[in-house]
Amino acid sequence: MFNQYDLEEIRDRARAAFVGMAIGDALGATVEFMTASEIAAKYGTFRDIIGGGWLRLKPGQVTDDTEMALCIARAIVKNQTWSLLAVADNFAAWLKSRPVDCGDTCRKGIRAYLLNGQLESPPNEWDAGNGAAMRILPAVLFSLPDDELLKKYVIEQAHITHNNPVSDAACICLGQLLHLALCGAGKTRLRRQVDGLVTRFPTFTFEPYRGLATGYVVDTMQTVFHWFFRGKSFKECLVGTVNQGADADTTGAICGMLAGAYYGMDAIPKRWLKRMDGKVIAEIEIMADRLITASPAGRRM
Ligand code: MN
Ligand code: MN
Repeated sequence: MFNQYDLEEIRDRARAAFVGMAIGDALGATVEFMTASEIAAKYGTFRDIIGGGWLRLKPGQVTDDTEMALCIARAIVKNQTWSLLAVADNFAAWLKSRPVDCGDTCRKGIRAYLLNGQLESPPNEWDAGNGAAMRILPAVLFSLPDDELLKKYVIEQAHITHNNPVSDAACICLGQLLHLALCGAGKTRLRRQVDGLVTRFPTFTFEPYRGLATGYVVDTMQTVFHWFFRGKSFKECLVGTVNQGADADTTGAICGMLAGAYYGMDAIPKRWLKRMDGKVIAEIEIMADRLITASPAGRRM
C-alpha cells in the first residue's frame, strides 16, 4: 500500500503536523481571550512567537493543548499499543503536576478518573468544548491509514473528558482530514470531507464565516476551516487563525496540525521554529516518528 518513498513523505508530514500544532499553540497563546479588534489595535497583524498573554508564558512555551497531546503520545509509544488506561494515567499525572493551564471539562473528567477510575464521562450536552479535538493528533498518527482504528482511538480518548455528539463529530472529521492530508490529499478532497460533516451537522457551516473563535468546538472548527481553506501557506493559515483571537492557542494548535500535515516541514517558517522550546520540539519529532513506525502504515513496510 505504501512504498518507502511514500513513508518518508508521511513521516515528514507527521512531524510537521505535530510541530505545527505546538507552534500554533505557542503563537496563539499570546492573544488568547483577546478580541480580533483588540489584537489589531495592539499588534496590527499579530505574527510573532513572543510569549506573555494571560498565562505569562515564556516565548515558545506551549500550553495544555500540546501537553495533553504529548500525554497521549507517550502512552502509545511506551506501551506500543492503544491503552486508554495509560492515556488516563498520563492525564492524571499531568494534572497533578500543576500545568500552566487546564480547561474545566478536562479537569472534571480527569478528576472523575482519579476519584473512581472513570474512563468514560457520562454524555453531556454542554461538554462541546474543543478540549478533546485539540489533543487527537497522536491517535491519528498511530491509526494511519485505518479509518476504524482512527474512530476508536479518537473517540475513546475524547470520552475520558468530553462525551458529546458535536465534539465527537468534530474529532472524527478532523482525524479524517489529517489522515487524508498525511497521505498527500489536495484541498479539494479535504473540502469534500468537511462538506460531509456540514451535511450531517449543519451547525459547522463556515460560509459565510461568522468570525467566532471561542472554545465551543463548532466556533473553533469554523475558524480552522475558514483559514485553512483560504490560506496559501502554513504561515497564512496560522496567522489568519490566531488573529481571530478568543481561544487562539487552541484554534492555532488545530489549524497548525492540519496545515503542518498538508504543507510539510519545509513550509514551517524557521523564524517560528527557532523560537520554540527546543526540548519540546525534540520530543515531538521523536514521538511523531515512533507513532508512524508503530502505525499500520509503518508496520506494513
Ligand atoms: Mn491551551
Ligand atoms: Mn485554549
